[in-house]
This record gives sequence, structure tokens and C-alpha cells, in this order.
Amino acid sequence: MEEYEIAVIGGGPAGIMAAIAASQNSSSVILLEKNFSLGRKLLITGGGRCNITNSKPINTLLNSYSHKNFLKHSFYSFTNEDLLSLFDLEFITEEDNRVFPKSGKSSDILKGLTDKIEDVSISYNFEVTSITNDFVINDKLKADKIIIATGGITYPQTGCDIKNYSLTSHPLTEIKYGLVPLITKNDLSEIAGVTLYDVVISYKKSRVKGNVLFSHVGLTGPAVINLSNEISEGISYNLLENEPEINLEVAIDLCPELTRENLMAKFNKDFQSKGKTMIKNYMKLFLTNSFIEYFLNECKIDGETQLSRINKKSKNRLVENLKRFVFEITGFNDKLAKVTIGGVDIKNVNPKTMESKLIPNLYFAGEVLDLHGPTGGYNLKIAFSTGYLAGLSASEK
Ligand SMILES: Cc1cc2nc3c(=O)[nH]c(=O)nc-3n(C[C@H](O)[C@H](O)[C@H](O)COP(=O)(O)OP(=O)(O)OC[C@H]3O[C@@H](n4cnc5c(N)ncnc54)[C@H](O)[C@@H]3O)c2cc1C
Repeated sequence: MEEYEIAVIGGGPAGIMAAIAASQNSSSVILLEKNFSLGRKLLITGGGRCNITNSKPINTLLNSYSHKNFLKHSFYSFTNEDLLSLFDLEFITEEDNRVFPKSGKSSDILKGLTDKIEDVSISYNFEVTSITNDFVINDKLKADKIIIATGGITYPQTGCDIKNYSLTSHPLTEIKYGLVPLITKNDLSEIAGVTLYDVVISYKKSRVKGNVLFSHVGLTGPAVINLSNEISEGISYNLLENEPEINLEVAIDLCPELTRENLMAKFNKDFQSKGKTMIKNYMKLFLTNSFIEYFLNECKIDGETQLSRINKKSKNRLVENLKRFVFEITGFNDKLAKVTIGGVDIKNVNPKTMESKLIPNLYFAGEVLDLHGPTGGYNLKIAFSTGYLAGLSASEK
């Protein structure tokens, strides 16, 4: 039986980084990947451009994660500077501190990473299905230390699989969809492709400002995707046992800069002074053109109506809908979920080493852990930093 000092399971960003770090101190590292190539999910990140990280200073960055205390040590052990200096590439920083390779190609990131893998054996088409108590993998090879970096459950075509959670007996938290588009009760085909810019979308007490995009089946875009984490976390379900049942409302504030009173005062003034203007033209002051017809239909107001003919009830309806345009949500568009909420319970993992507190010499890295962040490079940041720390700790132990 082949024997290695360190076996890394999973060749995504976390596993690749763990293998790179481990090989600095150990010459006996094997990376086991079930696909015929590494980093299949990495290739589709950022719409194929790879939003590799977020350039906020570490302290501010950490505030965006619910498990910031756990992540702190790994983020300081492997910073954005450490990450970006691995590549012989130029990077650009876009809105909201999102960092991308200047080439716009995630394949450049994957190539840059794989070029750094030295002194590591790689076994492709190797799906780990069993690990014994003395670290024999698939009855084929044995390792002194194992790093599990098998990812979450989303986009299974990239290699993720819910059954990986049972590779060890480690306790898990509830497994849920994260960063996922929402399916609405109403068919939105007629406004599919329309974007609402800088609106505020809310669910219960959670509010997210940003862009909302309509798809044929519902709502997507950065603001919706980020809000979806709060929604998913707030619903009781666990994908290890059942799918979520969803029936809830989200509301969009289409004019977040104006209060209801501001809007009513403006309407009162303008509906007199511009009495002959048709409402569909007047609404251009507040809404993107391609959304006006749908909006007025929902308000049950004929777009051709002149402002002077709009009665008080309709005026109230306009104000109410501009401030609280409601959509009934009936599901998650789970095939497009970007991350997994939940995973290996971090209570049982040492944040300074990523080693299990329950099974010595077993380490975890990346999305397999109960760690996730919003969109904007926050999730790859977890994979790279925890991967690096796990690899280094395993090789130094
Ligand atoms: C469409 C999409 C776009 C995204 N865009 C971004 C973005 O721009 N920025 C960002 O920060 N995050 C983004 N993410 C999230 C990010 O891709 C993940 O958080 C990240 O890939 C997690 O890395 P990982 O190494 O932990 O897991 P993965 O990337 O999922 O890698 C896990 C690897 O393990 C292998 N594997 C699984 N099971 C086994 C097994 N039993 N045996 C052997 N190998 C196994 C898999 O084949 C896979 O190669 C996106 C996600 C999606 C789905």
C-alpha cells in the first residue's frame, strides 16, 4: 500500500492551496481529486472571470462573516498580498473592492495555482469514498495526516457531493443553500433581464442595498443573492434530511432616497403643475423605463392616465408600491446556488491550525466547513486562507 505523510482530498482552491503549503515542509504529499482535472468550480467563478478575493482591510473584511473569530487567524496567516503575489498576473479592483485578474480569465488563476504545485503527487479520477480510523483511504493508500477539502453541495457537476459529509464522523451543522436566486410565485417573463439599480430589498428586518435583476422565474442580482443567505438561514430545513418549503414575502424599496412623505408631497405638487403628463412618462423620474409598465399594471393604473386624473386612492397606491413593492417567494433556484451554508461544525476545529479537535491529524479547509460569506470574493478568500493554514499546520506538526 502506498504511504504518504499528507493526503489532501479535493482539488479545488482550498485543496490546491493546502497542497502547495504542505509541500513547503513535506516531500510526501498527495492530492486526490475525483475529476479528471483540478479546480472545475474555480473556472466558473465570477462568471468565468474569478472574483479571487476582496481588497478590504482584514479587520473590515472579517466583519462581513458570521464566523469572523474563527477566520481571523487564517486570514492573518495568509493575506491578500500573500495570495496575489503567487501569480505572475495583474489584478484589477472593481466596485465593492472585488478583485479580478486583469485578463478577465479564471483559467489564468487556475493555471497560476497549478504552476505552484511542486513536489506533490496528484491522483485524478480518484473519488475518496472511505477513510478508516487509521487513515487508510479507499483501501488503497495510507496517510499520516489527512486534509479534507471536498467543498460544499452546489453545482454538483463540478465535483461537489452531499455524501462527502459522511467521510468522517465529524458533527455537522444544518446544510442549506446560500447565495441563491429566489423563485417568485408570479411569472416575471415580461420583465426578465430588467435591472433595478441601487434599490433596497428587505426580508423581515434584513435589508440589503444594491441591484436587483429579474429572471424568467424570479429575482437575482447581488442584492437578492446576499439577502438570500439571511432568508435561507432563517428557514428551518437541513438538506441532509429535507428540502426547504418556502412561502414568504420580500419587499423592494424602489425609491430608498425618498420617504413616503417626500413622495406624497412631490406627487401633490407635480400632479397639479404637470396635470397633462401621462403617468407612464412621469414615472421615469423614479423608475427604470423597462419596469414602468409592469409596475403600473401591478398598481392597477393605466399608463396613459393623465396626472390630473389620478385620484387619491391611486396616488396612495403609487406611493405604497414605490416604497414597498412586494414579491411572493415560493422557492430557491437551487441549481444556481453559489455556496453552501453549514458544514463541518467549526466548534470541533482548531482555528489556529484547522486540525480537528476530535480526530488528531485530520484537518479541514474551505467550503466543507460551516463557513460562508456574501458575494464579492469573500468565499474564495475562505478557501485560500483556510487551505493555506491547514496545509502549513499539517506539514509543521
Ligand atoms: C457559479 C459560482 C460562482 C462563484 N463565484 C465566486 C467568486 O467569483 N468569488 C468567490 O469568492 N466565490 C465564488 N464562488 C464560491 C467558490 O467557488 C467556492 O466557495 C469555492 O470554490 C470553495 O472552494 P473549495 O476548494 O472549498 O471547494 P470546491 O471548489 O468545490 O472544490 C472541491 C473539490 O473537491 C473535489 N472532490 C469532492 N469530493 C471529492 C471526493 N470524495 N474525492 C476526491 N475529490 C473530491 C471536487 O471535485 C472539487 O474539485 C462561486 C461559486 C459558484 C458555484
